[in-house]
Amino acid sequence: MSEKVKVAIVGSGPAGLTAAIYTARADLSPVVIEGEPSSTSDQPGGQLMLTTEIENFPGFVNGIMGPELMANFRGQAERFGATFNTTKVSKVDFSTRPFKLWTNTQEGEQPAYLAESVIISTGARSLLLNIDRETELIGHGVSTCATCDGFFFRDHDIAVVGGGDSALEEASFLTKFARSVTIIHRRKELRASKIMQDRAFANPKISFIWDSTVTELHGANSLEAVTVTNQITGENSKLNVTGLFVAIGHSPNTDIFKGQIDMDDLGYIVTKNGTATNVPGVFACGDVQDHIYRQAITAAGSGCMAAIDLEKWLKDSEI
Ligand code: NAP
Repeated sequence: MSEKVKVAIVGSGPAGLTAAIYTARADLSPVVIEGEPSSTSDQPGGQLMLTTEIENFPGFVNGIMGPELMANFRGQAERFGATFNTTKVSKVDFSTRPFKLWTNTQEGEQPAYLAESVIISTGARSLLLNIDRETELIGHGVSTCATCDGFFFRDHDIAVVGGGDSALEEASFLTKFARSVTIIHRRKELRASKIMQDRAFANPKISFIWDSTVTELHGANSLEAVTVTNQITGENSKLNVTGLFVAIGHSPNTDIFKGQIDMDDLGYIVTKNGTATNVPGVFACGDVQDHIYRQAITAAGSGCMAAIDLEKWLKDSEI
């Protein structure tokens, strides 16, 4: 049997849970399909579940741990009547209303939910190197976000992996804190824009290791060094760094929405007039539609916008 709901929220990071708080307080009884813990890098609560201390989320003078912040978001949404389903949406059909959503736990002909409106907040994931101990050391030397974690590396020697705009931007930003920043790139040519390259080459704190990848991480409880392997000679060398920023790109979690909703060339959902998508009644917020800011606070802000946009749409559509 399909459950009929007024609002289905897909995803439970800061965007989805803020949308849940607002729609719950508006008496819309949202159901949050929050995802499920399928791996350490993919679990309910989104990317902040992989972060240690968050110092830049306003309101917490002494900072707060990522998982604790997300537990607070969730508890607040629950307090106002949001309900949670710990599973993933496996398929959607947005061609007619009510919208149909199938889940991992209720696959078959009948969708799990028939929803009058949907908020998509499935986020994005940082691409990782997929080497041993990488996810274990996230928050303990390994990071995918310089803005979030750079401050913790004051006077450290650190490395950045990647050769695109993100890697160079992160490296430049990190030189504000670090003693040295080594960019490790798998080719001899950078992919980044010329201006970013010029800036990086001119920065005395930045050096480069070319044609190389990071193949091993060392350190008992936190990162102490990495093994760098030259892709041409096969030679290994050890680089003593206490921080490793992986900046090899992001990927929006939009696979299940392909063909159902407009996306840009990178697979991010296109929004206009706030958080509206091209399908009336379907809204998107957070990193799934933002590849520029990607902060917890901006995601939360757009979650609030989505809830307000949705509430207005329901009213205007007399649903
Ligand atoms: P990107 O342009 O796709 O660059 C990814 C980089 O990581 C490439 O240099 C790639 O190497 C390397 N890489 C990929 N997989 C790897 C692996 N497994 N091991 C080692 N290296 C790997 O991604 P991005 O830098 O995140 O940028 C994404 C988009 O956002 C781009 O359009 C970019 O221009 C834009 N952006 C703009 C700004 C800005 O203008 N301020 C800032 C950030 C991002 P190869 O070069 O060999 O493929």
